[in-house]
Amino acid sequence: MKKRIGVLTSGGDAPGMNAAVRAVVRGGLSSGAEMFAIYEGYSGMIDGGNSVRTMDWSSVGGILHRGGTVIGSARSDAFRTVEGRRRAVRNLLEHDIDALVVIGGDGSLTGANVLRQEWSDHLVALLEAGEITPQQAEDHAYLTIAGIVGSIDNDMWGTDMTIGADTALHRIIAATDAISSTAASHQRAFVLEVMGRHAGYLALMSALASGADFAFIPESPPDVPDWRATLCEILSDGRKEGRRDSMVIVAEGAVDREGNPITAEDVRSAIAEGLNEDVRITVLGHVQRGGSPSAFDRILSTRMGVAAVRTIMEATPEDEPMLIGISSNRIVRRGLMECVNHNQEINAAINARDFNKAMEMRGPGFQSAFRTLRTLVRAMPHEAPPNQRRLRIGIMNAGGPAPGMNAAIRAAVRLILDKGHVPIGIERGFRGLVYGEMRELKWMDVDGWAALGGSELGTSRKVPRENEYYTMARQLEDNKIDALLMVGGWAGYQSCINLYNERSVFKAFDIPIVCVPASINNNLPGADFSIGSDTALNSIADVVDKIKQSAVASNRCFVVEVMGGYCGYLALMSALASGAERAYLHEEGVTLSDLEKDIHFLNEGFRHGKRLGLIIRNEKSNPLYDTNFLAALFEQEGGDLFNVRMAVLGHLQQGGDPTPYDRNTATLLTASAIEIVVEACSASEEEPPAICLGLVDDRFTQTHLYQVSRIFDQEFERPKKQWWMRLRPLASMLAQPSQDSEGINYPEM
Ligand code: ADP
Repeated sequence: MKKRIGVLTSGGDAPGMNAAVRAVVRGGLSSGAEMFAIYEGYSGMIDGGNSVRTMDWSSVGGILHRGGTVIGSARSDAFRTVEGRRRAVRNLLEHDIDALVVIGGDGSLTGANVLRQEWSDHLVALLEAGEITPQQAEDHAYLTIAGIVGSIDNDMWGTDMTIGADTALHRIIAATDAISSTAASHQRAFVLEVMGRHAGYLALMSALASGADFAFIPESPPDVPDWRATLCEILSDGRKEGRRDSMVIVAEGAVDREGNPITAEDVRSAIAEGLNEDVRITVLGHVQRGGSPSAFDRILSTRMGVAAVRTIMEATPEDEPMLIGISSNRIVRRGLMECVNHNQEINAAINARDFNKAMEMRGPGFQSAFRTLRTLVRAMPHEAPPNQRRLRIGIMNAGGPAPGMNAAIRAAVRLILDKGHVPIGIERGFRGLVYGEMRELKWMDVDGWAALGGSELGTSRKVPRENEYYTMARQLEDNKIDALLMVGGWAGYQSCINLYNERSVFKAFDIPIVCVPASINNNLPGADFSIGSDTALNSIADVVDKIKQSAVASNRCFVVEVMGGYCGYLALMSALASGAERAYLHEEGVTLSDLEKDIHFLNEGFRHGKRLGLIIRNEKSNPLYDTNFLAALFEQEGGDLFNVRMAVLGHLQQGGDPTPYDRNTATLLTASAIEIVVEACSASEEEPPAICLGLVDDRFTQTHLYQVSRIFDQEFERPKKQWWMRLRPLASMLAQPSQDSEGINYPEM
């Protein structure tokens, strides 16, 4: 008999749950299982009947981009009782379901574990009552469970991210951006309350991304005797520097060192009394839960959904329930109850005011984000430390514009000033360095930059020619530049490598040089993610959602061309985020026999009721089979079955305000770059570093510029090894029903 798997969403809903349900259903069908959705969570499991429904491939079509959960979620008091759970078991067995993918918070996952523990008792009781047959009891002797955490709070131990948290940050940032513009017009302070009863993730990350002045989180209350005084001091320092607005973010579960709640109202009255200012409170509430999931959440849910099915298909009777998480950008499985218990330990630590333990258990990424936020909110122009000269640090953007570049420059300026040094902004990339277009940047020059798209400093793709080296060296010397921080794309990297190679000729180039990756293409050496690529991906997903909506009524196939140079990151990831049938990448090439297969597949699909096709093409996937050609080919071969439209997305992909992820990556990478540069300048005897910084497997890494040629394909301007190529089979798996009867090769994730 085929394995029968039920999927349910339970507890609070979270954007991305639909994408997870889709991946579970399609992944399950591809694995040869029969799939069922249990509507309305545990409550539907107890009701049975029409609440348990068979799902086929098309039942989960068109839901990937939708917020909330189309199969419904509920809280169920009846499920907390043995009788309730017994009815649930009977209803599951009516459909021969003995495996569940539960998508919910820690309450829902605990409930699933209870059900599994009691499973054999329920079988005995149901058998005695004559409600199931001995055969049923024998066939379904145990229950297999895989859990996926859907929670906007990002509050689960054992996974770096939960489904919905990234989207919630998008919603919060939309609000902080809107508030900042009105606050600045009136010289006002705003207090924003965000969700998170035991978890400060949303407050911390949104404070970092919005450039807020202060954040209160449950895990780490201000360690000062009087937080009110400290807060007012920080805000009034900001005013003295010229800031017109201030923003303070409060997690709903924020407490002080004694464990007393710090509410938005407490913060408001503290500021109003301390600074005699007009202070307004905004409580975001359910807005944070709503709306279409971000590209990250869609892809995360998809990866987790397929991994959950795999976990079930490969489980043995002894296997305990597993939680599907993500750690260092890889999908991992851990014991579900281990994770739930650790999570409760964190909550208990907060309640017991053991804040060190709570922070410790949140992990290094959370801690480092918190440290950076603390530095940034305290950052103030300072005198240079005694015995140290004031360093003049050149900072620039280079390459194409990438959203998040401004957040990086802002962080650089403030952190450099905080350390008592002088930031020198070099305009328009290396063009500006050749022509001497540079100026000292002040604290307020970068005010509000965290939220701005594009590059305020200006950027260019110029790579200086050999005859310009001398001029550049003179500019560096004349402006007494001690170190160079380049935030940009491949043109910037090339230029920095050239400077490094010319060190023996030009003494002026013998300074610390640090490259921070910023390019929407995500094609830079030594970095899994470059600043700007998340924003571009979200822009593409937004537009593709709209394009798809334009076609509801007719049989239509879209060929969408996206940027990326020779790097297929945006094409593949946007295909995953939008549920495209096919992505054409230069990495794989495009052959005539591929196209034939794709035409056959499209024709078959439309013949069997498909209404919409979506194909994403990287701009350089093949110079001859271009977007026009593909559209013409499909149009001709589609005959009467469907018609074809094409969309070349163009420059909107480079624009837009940066997403929270891009802002925060920019800020955190830059903070690390400034540390490196300042330290290198004081360790004078060594050869100054010439490196590119990056996030690899979620860790900060440094790659020496001389190693770049080894790991980077200079002809096609992309890393030789690209981590995301491992997700390639996932896109194919979810795009079309498998015709392979040989069993399944699960993609690595
Ligand atoms: P979340 O899953 O978002 O944490 P809840 O804590 O409300 O949300 O849990 C959702 C549902 O899971 C509850 O309504 C209940 O049906 C079930 N549940 C939670 N905890 C348990 C438990 N200890 N035993 C059995 N069922 C539980």
